[in-house]
Formats: sequence, C-alpha cells, structure tokens
Amino acid sequence: MSTLQAPRGTFDVLPEQSALRLAVEVAARRILEAAGYRRIETPAFEDTDVFRRTVGESTDIVQKEMYTFVDGGGRSLTLRPEITAPIVRAYHEHGMHKLAQPVKLWYLSSCFRYERAQAGRYRQFWQIGAEAIGSDDPAVDAESILLLAAILDELGVRGVRLRLSSLGTPASRTRYRELLQAHLRANEDRLSADVRDRIDLNPLRAFDADHPGTREVMRSAPLLLDHLDADDAEHFATVRALLGAGGLEYEIDATLVRGLDYYTRTVFEFTSDALGSQSGVGGGGRYDGLAEQLGAGHTPGMGWAAGIERILLAAEERPVPEPVCDLYVAVAGDGEAERTAAFLLAAEARRAGVPAQLELAGRSVKGQFKQAARLRARYVAIVGPTGIELKDMESGEQTPAESPSAAVATVLRGRFAA
Ligand code: AMP
Repeated sequence: MSTLQAPRGTFDVLPEQSALRLAVEVAARRILEAAGYRRIETPAFEDTDVFRRTVGESTDIVQKEMYTFVDGGGRSLTLRPEITAPIVRAYHEHGMHKLAQPVKLWYLSSCFRYERAQAGRYRQFWQIGAEAIGSDDPAVDAESILLLAAILDELGVRGVRLRLSSLGTPASRTRYRELLQAHLRANEDRLSADVRDRIDLNPLRAFDADHPGTREVMRSAPLLLDHLDADDAEHFATVRALLGAGGLEYEIDATLVRGLDYYTRTVFEFTSDALGSQSGVGGGGRYDGLAEQLGAGHTPGMGWAAGIERILLAAEERPVPEPVCDLYVAVAGDGEAERTAAFLLAAEARRAGVPAQLELAGRSVKGQFKQAARLRARYVAIVGPTGIELKDMESGEQTPAESPSAAVATVLRGRFAA
C-alpha cells in the first residue's frame, strides 16, 4: 500500500466537499434543534461489548465488519460501527434518565465498518442522526421520521421513498421466528447454503437473499407484520395514522430487515432512486430493549441515522460556495518595515471582521495583483515605503489611505455598499 494514498474505502474531505457537507450539517442542526434535539458527541471507540451486546452477535456488522483492537491495557475496544448504542450508553452513564423525558439528542460523527468498498459504501463514513430516548409514545416515532424527511427535502435529495414496518416486541418475534424457522426447514433443499446455515442464528436475513431458490421460498414465508401482539399492532397503526396526517407517503414493507438486532416495533428506511445498488439514504427505528442489553433499566428509544455521503450523492447539485476575500494585502518592495506594516494591516482588517489575505509567496507586484484577482478580492492594499494605496478592483480606482484604520474603514464601507 502506498503511503501517499488514503486506506482503501476511506477518502479525504477536500475543501470544496467540505463546503457542501457543511450544508448538511446546517440543515440538520436547524431542523433538529427546532424540534428540541441537542447535539451530542461520543468517543470514536467504545468497549467492544457496547456493540456486541446490542448490534447482535449474528449480524454482519459484529461478525465481520468491526475494527476491533486490544489497547495497551489489554482492553478490547472497537471503532464505532454505529452511534445509537454509544448514545444510549452515554444517556445512562450521565444520568439523563433523571431529566425530563424524552431526551432528544442529535449527532454528526463518523462510523467505521470493514465493508466491501464501492461507490457510496466506505469504511469510514459520516452520519447525521437523531435519538429520542425515554418515551414509547408512537408520536415520537412519527415525529422522528418526519424530521428526517424534512432534512432530505431541504437538501434536495432526489427520488426519495420511505419503507416502513414493525418488528413487534421480542416476545412476538420469538413466536414468529419459530414459524419462520419451520417454514425454512420445510423448504431447506431450495435455500442457499448461507441461508440454510443461519436458520437457527438469524432466519430473518433470508428475506435479504439474492439467491433465486431462497427468494422463491420467501415468497410464501409467514410475515411478522401478520403476527404482531395487539399492543404492537396498535402502536404501529398510530404511527401510520400520524405519518399519514403529516402528509408523508410510505410503503409498508413487511420484509424490511435492518442489519442491527436491537430494533423493536417501528423500523423504516429512506432510499433514493438517484443512487445505485447502495440506495439507502437513512433509516432507523425503535429500540425499546437496547438499554437493558447494556445492563441498564428498561428505557424505550427511537432514532435514525443518515449517511452524509449518500445524501450528497443523491442530492441535486448545488454550487460550491466561493471563499470570500474582501482585502488582499500586497507588499511593494522588500523592506522589513513594509512587510511588518502589511502583516499588521491584514491582522487589523480581520479583527474588524473583513476577510483578508496577506501576500505570503514573495510574488512581484504584478504577480500579487494576479493572485488578488484569482481570489476575487474586492480591494487590494499596496503597502510600500510611502504608505498604503487602496485599489478598488471593481472600479479600478486607486487612492492613498491615510492610515491602516482608514484603509480598513474604506473596505468595510465597500462591503456594506455591496
Ligand atoms: P445503518 O446504520 O446501516 O442503518 O446505516 C444508516 C445510514 O448510514 C445508511 O442509510 C447509509 O446512508 C449510511 N451508511 C451505512 N453504511 C455506510 C457505508 N459503509 N458507507 C457510506 N454510508 C453508509
């Protein structure tokens, strides 16, 4: 591997992309904070158990995608492959169950998964996410889904579809699992080897299979949605009614399986037709049992995560904002006094709130004007042995400035006039 290349599946966020990513952050912050969410940041790595116990031993994430390492103290740590479990860990560690419930938290952080790298699928990627912890009200589910829809809409994500389902509670799922396992066993000879090996461990994943025989078998498989408890069915009906009332279109997809084991009741996924095979833009659901899996008391929760790279791939193109330079400070001659005066002028301009850049590459005066034009500087200050001249790059007018403050004042007036 070349030391001049980022590791496979990772990427550098260059300045132009950074500006576009900021738009995602700004939209998420505005929409989520207006709904009472506050930002949280957890460490990049956690005790491995945080994920093992919640995401689930049988999932692809835990079985093959985690970056797990042993630190100098002999502890097993894992770079977070997802951020819900760490947030529930933090909620309990910091006694947030004593606050008014639900506690609403949002985040923007990177995750790490050793996945097959391809377009839209990386080994380090960034998620925005929202978690509402401490209430099992179905209105939390509907509100949370509507908030993600609003963010995707604001960012111009194209061809958005919402799939929705309910996984019920662990009790109804256990009963359903047995039904599904019986169906899979009865048709074992038509299944792919992979699915057959996982009948005991994770029969639900059979719905995800591409294998033609397995797909055929799954067409007549019993569906969990038809086997929900009365309470779960009612919860789901309310979520649906509220989403409908909120004007959000969705499809019920009884086969929606998320790659994490902690979900209960509502699950959902937004996809975009503008993406290829990695069409998931964001998804999530309710996780009423997650806190107990971590050893805390029963604490219902609901949340989602959406991938920033996927959002940007699926969003309408928007112009990359140009960096602003209102004042370019050029130096005429190579005297120490002029260079210091130029340095101080740039600093004074910045203190006054004027975006200013100083000549730093020893260019000729002509070269400095070229550089100022490249930066689209509104003014150029030429600091020379006889004082400061200020050139308005729009009108071409050049006038002497009495002092550095006078030069800065002229630039400020020009900014407000513009
Ligand atoms: P998940 O936790 O798997 O439900 O992922 C939530 C969202 O994160 C997905 O809808 C994607 O937008 C994004 N995502 C998940 N895995 C990756 C990846 N390997 N690369 C880029 N984005 C990802």
